[in-house]
Amino acid sequence: MTTSKIKQAISIYNDPWEAYNDIKQFDQLTLSNVEFTTTNLCNMRCSHCAVGYTLQTKDPDPLPMNLIYQRLDEIPNLRTMSITGGEPMFSKKSINNVVKPLLKYAHQRGIYVQMNSNLTLPQDRYLEIAEYIDVMHISHNWGTIQEFAEVGFGAMKKQPPLKAKLKLYEQMLDNASTLSDQGMFVSAETMLNQNTLPHLENIHKEIVNDMKCSRHEVHPMYPADFASQLNVLSLKDMKQAIHHLLDIRDKNTWMLFGTLPIYPCINDENDQLLLERLRNEKNVTVRNDPDGRSRLNVNVFSGDVIVTDFGDENGTISNIKNDKLTDVFDAWLSTDLAKSLNCHCEAFQCLGPNVLVKNMYYPNTNFRENEITMHTEHSFQ
Ligand code: SF4
Repeated sequence: MTTSKIKQAISIYNDPWEAYNDIKQFDQLTLSNVEFTTTNLCNMRCSHCAVGYTLQTKDPDPLPMNLIYQRLDEIPNLRTMSITGGEPMFSKKSINNVVKPLLKYAHQRGIYVQMNSNLTLPQDRYLEIAEYIDVMHISHNWGTIQEFAEVGFGAMKKQPPLKAKLKLYEQMLDNASTLSDQGMFVSAETMLNQNTLPHLENIHKEIVNDMKCSRHEVHPMYPADFASQLNVLSLKDMKQAIHHLLDIRDKNTWMLFGTLPIYPCINDENDQLLLERLRNEKNVTVRNDPDGRSRLNVNVFSGDVIVTDFGDENGTISNIKNDKLTDVFDAWLSTDLAKSLNCHCEAFQCLGPNVLVKNMYYPNTNFRENEITMHTEHSFQ
C-alpha cells in the first residue's frame, strides 16, 4: 500500500469523483474509483433503488479482505472509493467485517471516501465513522411525507406501519442536520422524474434549510428495470426542470448536476443556452458520469465486477478472484460499447453520454462522428 497523502477539501474546485481529473492528470481515462457493494441488507426498499429488488434478508460471507486489499493495492492511481449497499450502516457484522476495514484502508492511503446511505439509522452509527467519510451521500426525492412512505418502501412486500416510516423520516432529517453541523459533508441527491417534478422547490429547501446539506446533487432518472414504476421525463420537461431549479435554488449551496442528457455537440440552440447558463451559474458544477470512465463496482460477496450500479445494462464483466481491476478496466475500455460511448471534447471537458442516456434520448446519434465534427470546429485534432 502507498502512504497517506494530505487530502484537499472537497469544493466546486475539487470534486475527486469527476472523471475529467484523470484526463488532466494522465491524459486518458483511468481507473481511479472503486465502488464496493458491501451489503444486500437495508431497512428501506425504495422504488428507485438500483438494487432494491435484489435486497436480501441475510448477507453471505464476504470474500477475504486480503484479496480485496490486494486488488486495491494493484491500482496505482486510486483516488476515490465509494461504499454502497443496501444500507452500508445497517448490518453490524458488515460494518465491522467489511465497511470499517475499507474505511481504514482508504484513510491510510489518503483516498477520498463516499458512503451512500439512507441516513435513517441511529445517529451514533454515523458518528462512529464520521472521521473516515469525505462525502455522506443520501437520496432525497421526497416532496411530501406520503411520498417517502410510499416510494421509500415501494419495493417492500410487507409494509411497516406508517408511524414507523415517519419516524425514519424524522431520523433522516435530524441525522443530516446534526452531521452537517458537526462538519460532515452531506450531499443529497434528487432524481428528476415525474414524481419529484412538482416538488423540486420543496425538496431543495428541505435539503438546504432543514438538512443543512453542503451539496444538492441533481440527476435525471433513466429507465432501468429497478425504476420502471417511476416515470421518466421527456427531454423538454427535463430541461425546464433544470431551468426551474436554477431559478429557485439557494445560490450559496453547491448544486451538482450529473448524467445530464445535454451535450455541446447537439445542434439545438436551447440546449446550448442551458449549458451556457450552467457554466456561468455561481456554485453550480456539471459532472461527467464516472461509471465506466473512472469507476468499476465490485461486489464484496461474489467478487463480480460491473461498470455501473445499473448492472443490468452491461452485466458482470469480470471477477476479482481472477483478474486485476486495472486489467478489467482496460478490457472494458476496448469493448465496442465503451468505444462507442467514450468520446472526448477538450474544449468543453466533456466525456460523452453513458449507456442509459444514449439509449433513452439519443439512440440514433453517433457520438464518435459528433466528436470528429466538434474537434474540427474547435480546432482540436
Ligand atoms: S465529448 Fe461526445 S458528447 Fe461531449 S461534446 Fe464531444 S462528441 Fe458530444
